[in-house]
Amino acid sequence: MVTTMPGVISDELMEVLACPKCHGKLELVEEGEGGHLDCHNCRLRYRIDDGIPVMLIDEAEKF
Ligand SMILES: [Zn+2]
Repeated sequence: MVTTMPGVISDELMEVLACPKCHGKLELVEEGEGGHLDCHNCRLRYRIDDGIPVMLIDEAEKF
């Protein structure tokens, strides 16, 4: 098992994460114990549940 700080995505994970729509880089926005990942190309926001990014276009919010 990989241990992570609550709400924090490791640098290694950020390196492999990409927007499922445009495959572009994501910006990690940390908020308290959680946060979200923003794709500025698509203007979509992916939420992070218990440190697990939800990389689903259908679940993403427009911003
Ligand atoms: Zn995108």
